[in-house]
Amino acid sequence: MLEFEEALARILAAIPPPAGEVVPLNRACGRVLVEPVASPIDLPPFDNSAMDGYALRSADIASASPAQPVRLRLSGRVAAGETFSGEVSPGTCVRLFTGSPLPRGADAVVMQEDTRTEPKEPHQVLILDTAKSGENVRLRGGDIKQGATLAEAGKLLTVGHICLLAATGRAEVEVGRQPIVGLLATGSELREAGQQLGPGQIYESNRSGLSALLERIGCVPKAFPLVADTPDTVRAALESALNECDAVITSGGVSVGEMDFVKGAFEAAGGELQFWRVAIKPGRPFVFGRCRGKLLFGLPGNPVSAIVTFVLLARAALLRWQGVKDVTSPCNPGVLAEPLANPGQRRHFMRVKLDGSGKVFSAGLQASHALSSLATANGLVDVPPGTRLAAGETVKVIRWDGA
Ligand code: AMP
Ligand code: MG
Repeated sequence: MLEFEEALARILAAIPPPAGEVVPLNRACGRVLVEPVASPIDLPPFDNSAMDGYALRSADIASASPAQPVRLRLSGRVAAGETFSGEVSPGTCVRLFTGSPLPRGADAVVMQEDTRTEPKEPHQVLILDTAKSGENVRLRGGDIKQGATLAEAGKLLTVGHICLLAATGRAEVEVGRQPIVGLLATGSELREAGQQLGPGQIYESNRSGLSALLERIGCVPKAFPLVADTPDTVRAALESALNECDAVITSGGVSVGEMDFVKGAFEAAGGELQFWRVAIKPGRPFVFGRCRGKLLFGLPGNPVSAIVTFVLLARAALLRWQGVKDVTSPCNPGVLAEPLANPGQRRHFMRVKLDGSGKVFSAGLQASHALSSLATANGLVDVPPGTRLAAGETVKVIRWDGA
């Protein structure tokens, strides 16, 4: 049985380098850059005004005050998008708006609120305050210098990156392709929503939860029909899913019972099992395999085990597949509001609720079929074997309610 870290390292080592595709920038949020992006231009591209006001020479208005305004001659007007052909000579000013290019000769902008004009003297402006050189001027390259890296390869593009790249004139980016991930739910007891439950039957729930988790990390889920527990059915289902997808996630049928056909069917379909069983709770019977460049994640059937093993192991693999460098789960520190005890012999990733003030509560019943606590939980705390974490201890909460 593998330790969790070793299992994760072995999975990540087996992930091929990302395949890139070029997408329009407005479709790229949440996608992963496969090449660094540098700025072809300075940002801002030219010195410009941060205010509606007047461009002038700061030395001209060193004595300005509301009681003793300095009078400047208005020599022009530049709207955003226009340019001023002349120069701001001593004793003059030019009317500007936010984003107007700073005319030559000027070194500062005084905002409109610190000026006054008289209707009968339209070519004169009274300046009521001093300005330092550079005041209210946004300098060329002050934000980004031409050639600077805007985003590194391996970064998940955020809204902020999209805005930044767009401002440098970028229309497309090369990002990691999104894996199509097949979802197979095995179990002869499983029924689809809308069907009548017969004796001993339950509704299938893993494909829905896993689809939601997959979409959050940029994968394209593809749910397949329910798979009954016979070796041939499981094998046929695995073969078609492996043909149509980049990776396949199965749930159920990976334990030690004689009705657990996934491992055998995967090998019969030409797959190579890399390992099964990881020393974690919930989710010990986790399978990882490869088949003709495709990946198999065989998750246990219990819904909580399936979700937890996805969050801890498959998530990282499918992000890395897209080219993400840092695939660690988002974590937040929190303080236990009540004890968390793991009397067992495997690490227990317990479901917890981290509240807005940083307090951590048990999410309730921790059994691996218990969905009520899954709905309450927003994170997991890794409690070592034979350990009782006391109230007041600081713990790391692995978040699984975000990406
Ligand atoms: P298994 O891993 O196949 O032994 O399944 C373990 C438990 O999880 C059994 O109680 C199954 O009925 C249940 N189970 C398996 N697959 C699913 C599923 N897709 N949705 C809901 N429950 C499931
Ligand atoms: Mg089963």
